[in-house]
Amino acid sequence: MKTTQYPITRLFGVSTAREKLFSKLGIKTLFDLLYHFPADHENRGNTVCVDDAQNGEYASLILEIITPVTNTRIKSKGGRAMTVQKFTAADETGSVKVTCFNREFLGQSVKVGNKYRFYGIINGIAGLCSMTSPAIEAADGKVLLPYVPRYPLTAGLTSNILSSCIKQALEICKNDIDDYLTDAEREEFDLCTHYEALCGIHFPENEEILRQAKRRLAFDEMYAFQLNSILLGENVKSGKAYRVDYPEMREFLSHLPFEMTRAQKKALHDILWDMSGVTKPEDNTSDEFVSPARRLVQGDVGSGKTVVALAAMYAAAKSGYQSALMVPTGILARQHYEDAGRLLSKMGLHVALLTGGTKAAEKKQILAELKSGEIDCLIGTHALIEDNVEFKNIALAVTDEQHRFGVGQRKTLEEKGENRIFPHTLVMSATPIPRTLAMILYCDLDISIIDELPKGRQKIDTYAVGEDYHTRVYKFIRERVEEGRQAYIVCPLAEEKNAEGEYIQTANYELKSAKSFCEKLKNEELKGLNVEYVHGRMKQTEKDEIMSRFADGEIDVLVSTTVIEVGVNVPNSVVMLIENAERFGLSQLHQLRGRVGRGSHKSYCILVSPLMNKSKDSDFAKRVKILCDSGDGFEIAKKDLELRGPGEFFGKRQHGALCFRMADAMGDVKLLEQTKTLATRHAKEKRELEIEKIGL
Ligand code: ADP
Ligand code: MG
Repeated sequence: MKTTQYPITRLFGVSTAREKLFSKLGIKTLFDLLYHFPADHENRGNTVCVDDAQNGEYASLILEIITPVTNTRIKSKGGRAMTVQKFTAADETGSVKVTCFNREFLGQSVKVGNKYRFYGIINGIAGLCSMTSPAIEAADGKVLLPYVPRYPLTAGLTSNILSSCIKQALEICKNDIDDYLTDAEREEFDLCTHYEALCGIHFPENEEILRQAKRRLAFDEMYAFQLNSILLGENVKSGKAYRVDYPEMREFLSHLPFEMTRAQKKALHDILWDMSGVTKPEDNTSDEFVSPARRLVQGDVGSGKTVVALAAMYAAAKSGYQSALMVPTGILARQHYEDAGRLLSKMGLHVALLTGGTKAAEKKQILAELKSGEIDCLIGTHALIEDNVEFKNIALAVTDEQHRFGVGQRKTLEEKGENRIFPHTLVMSATPIPRTLAMILYCDLDISIIDELPKGRQKIDTYAVGEDYHTRVYKFIRERVEEGRQAYIVCPLAEEKNAEGEYIQTANYELKSAKSFCEKLKNEELKGLNVEYVHGRMKQTEKDEIMSRFADGEIDVLVSTTVIEVGVNVPNSVVMLIENAERFGLSQLHQLRGRVGRGSHKSYCILVSPLMNKSKDSDFAKRVKILCDSGDGFEIAKKDLELRGPGEFFGKRQHGALCFRMADAMGDVKLLEQTKTLATRHAKEKRELEIEKIGL
């Protein structure tokens, strides 16, 4: 057995009780532990003296303990029993009063006369300084690392415990951590070894080592993603797909209440040509089969990507084949089913909806009808890719808002065909991204771009304001509702507690959560209006119910998380208010804004952030200005890329399931190009990577 596969109970200090805590974090083996990366690193290296510490800012101080630690029991506001520890520490320039909570054993580890490094927010000015719950490390006779990793933790498991376990694991597994790169390749791309990167991310001795570690891990992550995509593409391309004849489209077009734009028609031609074998005639010699198409359709929010997908599904049905449309949320699936389903049904197609919320009996029937070929088009969430979903003859698989799905999920859908008959793949991207980046991120797909909005689209007025504008904002919303319109309010969090009932700590100021913010608005600022909330962690049936009531106009104001980000269409809604706007990426804000301005009414997007009061030149203010000035998603993405680098696109906030843990380090397009070079080379050499090897 490889040492990396050892259970963590092999480590000194991991009892069965602790094993349970580790498993809460998904850590069972030494391997899991080594790849439990810090969310970021605190820079505690720049120590200052008390006199120089800035009020309200993070500071790192080396202090001597002056008074013994006192320990008192108190009750919290909520009535829970807790303990408080207090003591004073000082250097030559001043003293600091320290307060901690529930650290009963502090008195044993912190001794009067000894020196420690304190890291936390300093309150007050020299002479009257205090710190609450700082990180404390013994400083006497020890080399303290300047960068301290901040790990995702769970109650009962501290950073110190985690660090000491990781240290042991690194030692034990030393010889079992492979490097898939040769020395020559590492030199070519200026990378440290994979093992060095692991040491560097957990125990960075200096800034350069940390930078190198992040770069190497980001490289590995992106490389693995690209190699996988390329191999998937090659595997599919070596198979075949049903030939879908280019149909007579008049019937389809006659059912549309509008004329398709030039750009929509172009994208549709691309995919119809692919599927009918026109694109690569040399590969397509048989009458029944052609080489599988794999195409990305990029278009700004509201550019009308759905209808392109529907037209392609219509074409598949006309040739006698089935198709599927997979979307990331149940809300969106239902909406597509209702709109698209109605349209396709009018043309005589049999459309079905399958989501996690579909009842067992209904599901059974749908599965049978899919297998017999009775259903032409299936719309749904990733319930579509479960093993028991079998098609009779699927020719086309569309994934909408693809960035929400990882390659793995896309792969499973693509592999729904049998006997190496694959469906053609059409991927609709939600977030427009610059072409250079698209070619890296979707390196295995052909790309069509819808670079034109339907005629008559209005501009959405966008404002960024500080929280002191709240009263005016609510008055504004009330007025719109009195005119018969509706509004969205988006918050960064679903509830204040996570699934385990623990309070979520994110920033050092309050983040709004949909649930409690909704309660507050209902009782105070928006009293009398119909205010409800929806978020991703609610039951599917509850979500569907709220959304359909909002669509029917029964709810005036919908408070929500980003579950409404993608695709939701309620044309009567004219205000998009985004709380804690600083928590969202620009493209995501643009995407949210795209939920309004869908009807004939004038629409508004209001971004509220405590950061707006701080400074007009702040990074956030600059980014927001881009959004206020432009309504063009491609333009916004391009500027955002210039301002922040590609990290933004790969961050958690942007891509959901397709997120990269080392997103920040993917700071330069060069790194991404290098990974693509190498992945392409290795794919040619058929050097498959066991992804398990690099913890991805
Ligand atoms: P997205 O590209 O964001 O997925 P949708 O496909 O949801 O956009 O389309 C947004 C709205 O625009 C829908 O209500 C759709 O019916 C409408 N639409 C699509 N194409 C056109 C067009 N050519 N002219 C007018 N309206 C259109
Ligand atoms: Mg869409």
